[in-house]
Formats: sequence, structure tokens, C-alpha cells
Amino acid sequence: MPRLIIQRGKEHRVRAGHLWVYRNEVDRISSTARDGQPVDILDSRRRFLARGLLNRQSGITARIYTYQKEDMDETLLASRLERAVDLRESCGIDLNLVRLVSSEGDMLPGLVVDRYGNVMVVQFLTPGMDARRDALVSLMVERFDPAAVFERSNVPSRQAEGLSSAQGLLYGSLPDPVEVEEDGVRFRVDVGNGQKTGLFLDQRENRMLTRNLARGKKCLDMCCYTGGFGIHALKGGALEATGVDISGEAISMARVNAEINGLSEHYRTVEANAFDYFRQAERRGESYDLVCLDPPSFARAKRSLPSASSGYKELNLRALKLLSDGGILVTCCCSYSASPGLFLKIVTEAAADAGRVLVLINEGTQSLDHPVLPAHPETRYLKCLILRAWRR
Ligand code: SAH
Repeated sequence: MPRLIIQRGKEHRVRAGHLWVYRNEVDRISSTARDGQPVDILDSRRRFLARGLLNRQSGITARIYTYQKEDMDETLLASRLERAVDLRESCGIDLNLVRLVSSEGDMLPGLVVDRYGNVMVVQFLTPGMDARRDALVSLMVERFDPAAVFERSNVPSRQAEGLSSAQGLLYGSLPDPVEVEEDGVRFRVDVGNGQKTGLFLDQRENRMLTRNLARGKKCLDMCCYTGGFGIHALKGGALEATGVDISGEAISMARVNAEINGLSEHYRTVEANAFDYFRQAERRGESYDLVCLDPPSFARAKRSLPSASSGYKELNLRALKLLSDGGILVTCCCSYSASPGLFLKIVTEAAADAGRVLVLINEGTQSLDHPVLPAHPETRYLKCLILRAWRR
């Protein structure tokens, strides 16, 4: 087996269970090693640490997938998939609407599989997984008998891995429309053109928590995408909901989703930039009892954290100002680089500036089908705070 030797003194993180070997930690790599294929990862004294999939083109030169001397072959892929299924089943997760495989979280680095009923959407994010696409598709077909397997590997991160964008049908035929039911709410999913793989399954539990707090409330769902939080709030008895998003396509889908749930009468949509909408709403004197705020990641890298932090702070400040006394703020942050502590601090500062007393009702993260490995903190990226806000 080709080998990757880590520089002396740089092996602590891998020993502690982190799954990545960065380029600047590599001492040498066997000349026979091939990108996308396994390498043994050794410390400077040539002791075996783990086995990973190599990619010299990436800043993450190897991604660990096992601590045994085993190949990433069909047998291992199948057993990792069963482990992923078992983890979800043991948590009582609905296997019909689920992130079945969550990359490092399931020790299948570079692979994402979402199941929307009889449609499976896959992302191959590294050469290691890209090279195994046929085996993976066969495995999915054999195990789940889907109507379609659709690839959504059109993500910017593939570039950093030396891969081009890829998208399209890999198996079967796509039902039209694709529709799922999430906790009693119907959602259409645009598998081909929607954001990410079509639906944000990571917010499922947070949407449910929000819905349980929504009765009798006037709700604003900021960055609503296809209507997730707002439509669940209506289902939970909210009097009315307004969904705001910068994407016209997302807004159209949100309207369809409200319609198929028989909730359009109480659902309003606005295509707008969050910052603009907040400013105008404040001017108009609008007030809401429940504001959900789920912006995209403002900080993809540590260096953009300062500007991202001020963006998060401004949005939260403006959201808090629109809240009625005792209203509820559901505020999310999906940037891994903003830690849970930092995000809570940003929101606390925004509340002080807005003149509000905050009570933390729930400090949530991503749904359980996006497993967190404590030794690999990048697997925990989502923060969702539910707070009540009183005027000072
Ligand atoms: N809450 C949604 C997911 C939101 S994803 C759900 O439960 O499904 C983030 C959304 O923010 C995307 O739909 C994106 O179009 C939108 N967005 C990005 N930048 C924005 C901006 N400046 N103003 C308003 N919406 C924005």
C-alpha cells in the first residue's frame, strides 16, 4: 500500500481522531500513490495511524476513512452504508426523508446522499468518491430500489479538489414533480435546480421546534428558501406567515408549497434582499411575534469571519427590532467557522443594541441525520438559537 508520512510533530490531530491530513503536514508520499486511492498514513517513525483517500490537488491531502488496513472497496462502502442506516434507525429517523450519508459524519468522506422518498440525490465531492460513483450508484439501487438517482455535484468545493462540476440523472427517471412529506407538511423538491440537493434536511428538527411555538403568532420567515419554517409555523397554528428570499425561484416554490398544503390564504411571499426588507419593514412599522432567520453561510473561511460577524449581527439586530414584546427569534448560522460561542455572543450583542432582554429557549444544531464526530469538529456546523425577547 502506498504511504503518506506525516511530518514529525504534526501527527497529534490525526491521533486525536481528526479525519484530515493537510498539505502542509505531509512529509512525503509514495510515488506509486494515486489521487482518489487509499494510502496508509504513518507518523514520522513510520507507525501506522490510519488509512485515507489521497488527493494531492487539495489542501486536504488525505481524508481518513478507516483505522484498519482495509481498502475502500464495495464491501466497505456497503458496510459503511449499513452503519449509516443503523445510526439513523436507532434514532427513530424517518428513512424516507433523510440524509442517508453525511460525508465525514458517516466516515464516508466526500459522499453525500439525500433520500427524498423514491428519489436519491448524491454528491461526489472528492476524487476518492468520484472514482467510486458507479459502485455507489449500484449499491443505492440494490439497497433502496429508487425510481431515480440524481447527481448534484455542481458545488464550488469540487474545484478545490481538482474536479469539474457535474450534474444529471445517473439512474432511472425522475418523477415530476418530486414531492415529500416532512412531519405532515408537503414540500415539492426541485432536485435538478434547487439549492444544494433540493431541500435543507439539516433544519428539520428546528422547523419542528419552531412549529410548536407558533400558535397564534404573526411570523416572518427571513431567507425562507422554499418556505420551510413559515409553512411549518402555519401548520402549527400561526395566524399568518411572510416568507422573504432573494431568490425568485425559491419564492415561486414556496408559493407552490403553501398552496399544496392549503395554507396560501395566510402565506405571503416577498422576493427581496434581507437587509433591504428589514430596513423597509422597520420604516413601515411592521411587527412580528416570531421571526425566523436562516441566512446562507457568510463565512466560508476563517479570514472572512470579521465581516461575516458584522453581517450576522446586523441581521439579528434588525430581526430583534421587528419583534413584538416577548416575541420569539429563531436564528441560525451555518458557517462552521463561527463557533456556537461566537454566534451566541453576536446575538447577545445585537440584543443589547436593540434594547432587548433575551431568554434562551433552545440551543440547537443540525438534525440527527447529519452526524457530529466530536473529534472532527467540522461535522458540527449549524447553530440554531431559539430565544424570547422582551423590551428592556
Ligand atoms: N430556511 C430554509 C433554508 C434557507 S437557505 C429552509 O428551511 O428550507 C438560505 C436562503 O437564503 C436561500 O434560499 C437563499 O436564496 C437565501 N438568501 C441568500 N442571500 C440572501 C439575502 N441577501 N437576502 C435574502 N435571502 C437570501
